[in-house]
Amino acid sequence: MPELPEVETIKNELLPYIVGHGITGITLLWDGIVRQPSVEEFCSRLIGQRITGVTRRGKYLILGLTSNEVLIIHLKMTGSLVLQPVSAKPNKFTRAILHLDNETQLHFRDPRKLGRMWLVEDKNAIIGKLGPEPLEASFTPQLLAQRLNNRTAPIKAILCDQTCIAGIGNMYADEALFAAKIHPLRLGKSLSPDEVKHLHRAIGQVLCAAIEDKGASVDTYLRPGGELGTAHFQFQVAHRLSGEFCPVCGTPIERITVRNRGSYFCPKCQQ
Ligand SMILES: [Zn+2]
Repeated sequence: MPELPEVETIKNELLPYIVGHGITGITLLWDGIVRQPSVEEFCSRLIGQRITGVTRRGKYLILGLTSNEVLIIHLKMTGSLVLQPVSAKPNKFTRAILHLDNETQLHFRDPRKLGRMWLVEDKNAIIGKLGPEPLEASFTPQLLAQRLNNRTAPIKAILCDQTCIAGIGNMYADEALFAAKIHPLRLGKSLSPDEVKHLHRAIGQVLCAAIEDKGASVDTYLRPGGELGTAHFQFQVAHRLSGEFCPVCGTPIERITVRNRGSYFCPKCQQ
């Protein structure tokens, strides 16, 4: 599923093609993709507006509009946003098309139909409960320590909790825990100050490296131009097949389920 590095890449690569451009029409091929307001209102309020900016918060993409409303998009498990020429036909997974005034269309594809869009005046109604952004300077080791303090959930589950830290999901939680040598089942409150520092550094490193590689195309993720990201080629444990070995010590990588998420780790390096 697209996580912080994938959504950051989508934001960066959409920006030059959509900011400053007007929305001339909307085609909805599956109405359920619109969460708020009603489908009729969503279309009538969007058409005629210009996109004034694109930002990211956690795994959400936020399009600013001339009316001061925002169009918020969440790609969930399998969503992608693909730029297409005006003549392009939707494929079987296209759920919505935004028609722009520069002969471009933005296709929202989503095989599993879990992705969502909201058109709202106050973005906090949708994203107000998200935790801190892990790549901002204000996300310090002290802040991470505070967020883990007294938490009795497994660290893997805490890292994936969007109200604790925004933007990290299954893949980058596994990678950060491997880099920090921390077992995914350790309780949040059990981490020593040094372990918190290592984890903080690992989170920054794995996310920045993945942004540099334009995200990880392990599943359906595509960049807006249709290219794949290459971040998964650097993965040490995430999405490894059973029988693969730890790149550090050669021990077979294990897969366990932590709160319904498949978690990959090295039983020797991660304690
Ligand atoms: Zn190992």
